[in-house]
Amino acid sequence: MSASFSNQITAVAYCRTPYKQKFGIPRQPGLVDVHGYVELTGPFNDPDSVRGLEQYSHLWLLFCFHENLAQGWKTTVRPPRLGGNEKLGVFATRSTFRPNGIGQSVVKLHGIVRRGGKICLEISGMDLLDGTPIIDIKPYIPFSDAIPDAIGGMAQEAPVQYPVHFCSEAEAQVARYGARPQSPNLRALIEGVLAQDPRPAYKKAKDDAKLYQVALYDLDIFWQIGPKGIEVLELKPGM
Ligand code: SAM
Repeated sequence: MSASFSNQITAVAYCRTPYKQKFGIPRQPGLVDVHGYVELTGPFNDPDSVRGLEQYSHLWLLFCFHENLAQGWKTTVRPPRLGGNEKLGVFATRSTFRPNGIGQSVVKLHGIVRRGGKICLEISGMDLLDGTPIIDIKPYIPFSDAIPDAIGGMAQEAPVQYPVHFCSEAEAQVARYGARPQSPNLRALIEGVLAQDPRPAYKKAKDDAKLYQVALYDLDIFWQIGPKGIEVLELKPGM
């Protein structure tokens, strides 16, 4: 069997999400109620290519971790879930540094619309950076894709969720920015993202007074670890 197989792949679509930087994006899909869309491109932007897709409630998105491709890959990785100390084989993890840089996420399909001549699949639950190239779209087929008694190794359970509090200034800001059409569902998105505690695993092990920032929509959200969990301190227009 030749080990020299290679294949040229091309984006069939691009994913548009509120996640403007990698830090803060949930580690897997379905953890945060986040909405966005997949915009078909080139010859794939054809109504025939999605004919019948509306009969499915969920889709598999196959994509490229395009922002990590330049760093290449290693045979072992340090999964954040194991505290960043223990090494596992890259194929035993969902690491974003992979031989072909391919990710897969199941997302909920809300609708198929046309916007400015582009076919857009309205989705939710994705764990993708804004602008991620999509290399394939497949329907989720419950009878074969859902395996309730499957063993999930180190990732058997969803990550722990932390309480999220807004200081009074951030309360007023999230009300103001959340009322804008360009940042819908803002409060729920901030709560969902920060409840995952996006910090690197080694930071969680000790007291941490650092000020953190995540970029959602066109905003920078500043937060830190407080006595009662995650404290949102300020929202302001992104740099
Ligand atoms: N569900 C997919 C899988 O299992 O293949 C992705 C899991 S991976 C752990 C999820 C992380 O990928 C996100 O938290 C984010 O940091 C990173 N990510 C998302 N889109 C990316 C992109 N376009 N380039 C590089 N990293 C990306």
